Amino acid sequence: PRDGKTRVLILMSDTGGGHRASAEALKAGFEELYGDKYHVDVLDIWTHHTPYPFNQMPKTYSFLVKYGFLWRAAFNAWQPRVVHVPCSTASSVVVGRRVSEAFDIYQPDLVVSVHPLMQHVPLRIMRMRIKNGMQPPTNFATVVTDLTTCHNTWFHPGVDRCYVATEASLNQALRLGLKREQLRLYGLPIRPAFGRAFPAKPKLRKALGMALDKPAILLVGGGEGMGPVEKTVDGVARHIGADCQLVVICGRNAKLVEKLKNKEYPAGMHVLIKGFVTNMPELMSASDVIITKAGPGTISEALICGLPMVLNAFVPCQEEGNIPYVTENKVGVFEKSPERAAKIIRGWFGERRAEFEEMGRRCKAIAKPHALFDICRDLNTLVR
Ligand code: UDP
Repeated sequence: PRDGKTRVLILMSDTGGGHRASAEALKAGFEELYGDKYHVDVLDIWTHHTPYPFNQMPKTYSFLVKYGFLWRAAFNAWQPRVVHVPCSTASSVVVGRRVSEAFDIYQPDLVVSVHPLMQHVPLRIMRMRIKNGMQPPTNFATVVTDLTTCHNTWFHPGVDRCYVATEASLNQALRLGLKREQLRLYGLPIRPAFGRAFPAKPKLRKALGMALDKPAILLVGGGEGMGPVEKTVDGVARHIGADCQLVVICGRNAKLVEKLKNKEYPAGMHVLIKGFVTNMPELMSASDVIITKAGPGTISEALICGLPMVLNAFVPCQEEGNIPYVTENKVGVFEKSPERAAKIIRGWFGERRAEFEEMGRRCKAIAKPHALFDICRDLNTLVR
């Protein structure tokens, strides 16, 4: 029912944790800026408004991405316009009625996609509805939540606005036929909590149960606890041990939490093991360095918190370009070997301290903590 509020429909899908995180960030951004004026819905249109097999898309992704070569094949096969445009058009015919129902239910005044596979089909169906008088004219915007090597399906020349996070994506969008005036370069939409001022480190550490006097390494195993988490813990224990404290985030991997909690650690090494956390802004602000896979969200958050990073894994294709982004900006390194990663950090805490501190300053210099509100303010202008 219409309640006088402006309705925004955010289209996302749970392929990796980042799309949902971006959708939730946008929702929170609207709430902070405009309070009750907006009603924001977040919808996985593929899972909830398409028939089989289309509704299996997130599961298919989780499967493919476990086998790098399969994902790479799927990503590249779908990359050319001559493939994904006709396929999407054909899919629209099959899924059209159900997707159209979603627009009837949510009655959006603005549609925002935060997923690479949410341009062609929903945009086509929405435009047909508008043409047939089934819905008033409505704008459609894409918020690209990858940093550099984005899939081409992110970029549809027919959108009213497309938000990108880096020069590299801006240029990709231009190459794919979007006009400069359709594009905005603000950065990735990161939860508003990251944009706030935090208490000083000692106070934060005390509240989080961390040691006050030791440099802190935050090890993030990806949403599902991906990456060589246990081996990295061993490497840090062996090469840095009591000279550091380690906070390990295992994501939704409960078995890993148990295993790491029951491990023996060197005397004097302070270790905190956590599952999926909701206080990432505090944990990052309380730490000195982060070891993580090359997720765009995590990288952007670490930059805001001034955390130099060791990238130890990546999802093939869409996260590969994040590695040169980090290394060329000199805000971190890529090191797959847990042993060498630990030795690099030992150096940063020791004889290479000055270089390490310089990296921390560069993180803050290239971070875009205001991107979320910049995007929300601009989206606000797109409501008809
Ligand atoms: N995250 C979180 N709690 C956890 C693990 C991860 O809040 O325990 C968040 C993290 O801060 C980031 C997102 O999940 O915002 C992961 O997104 P990213 O783009 O880095 O990787 P993806 O999971 O999409 O591959």
